[in-house]
Amino acid sequence: MAILPIYNCFHPILKKKTNDIENIDESIRQLAKDMLETMYNTGNGVGLAGNQVGMDKSILVVDISDPEDTAKYEPIVMINPVITDSSESTIEMTEGCLSVPELYEKVARPEEIDVQYYNLEGKEINIHADGFLSRVIQHEIDHLNGILFFEKLTPLRKTLVKNKLKKIQKGLILPDYPMINPDGKLAQ
Ligand code: ZN
Repeated sequence: MAILPIYNCFHPILKKKTNDIENIDESIRQLAKDMLETMYNTGNGVGLAGNQVGMDKSILVVDISDPEDTAKYEPIVMINPVITDSSESTIEMTEGCLSVPELYEKVARPEEIDVQYYNLEGKEINIHADGFLSRVIQHEIDHLNGILFFEKLTPLRKTLVKNKLKKIQKGLILPDYPMINPDGKLAQ
């Protein structure tokens, strides 16, 4: 197991669509474990996409367990996930992102989705998700397609967060976990 550095949202790998995984081998299973450990290490992460740890691969991990919630959830690993259907009704929720330190903004997204993906055993899975799970999966699948959550803000909010994003781009706002700056170097 290893904690991997998380890439800053202005690193070019976060703007690129990831490649599908063709062989789910031991290296992919190890990557999934490392991604989960990396996410847990941040303290508040609920999802992480492959390109956020610098891997150009269509893989994401999600764990929406909340210590204050009695409901229990298992971590989910999705290989090559695709949203096959989404509700017309949208809902606003506040989102944050491990690649975008200290930015929290409301984003409107479809309330419910159907997702098709492969699990680590290579089995095709189809699920329906709503609520917070739907939200996190949509955010992570956007990453795999090179889309960042702040690109979905209203024009007004985009203007208001511009300065903060500039600071993040310059590496002036850093999280308390290892981060790779836009220039590819580990932030100090
Ligand atoms: Zn994110």
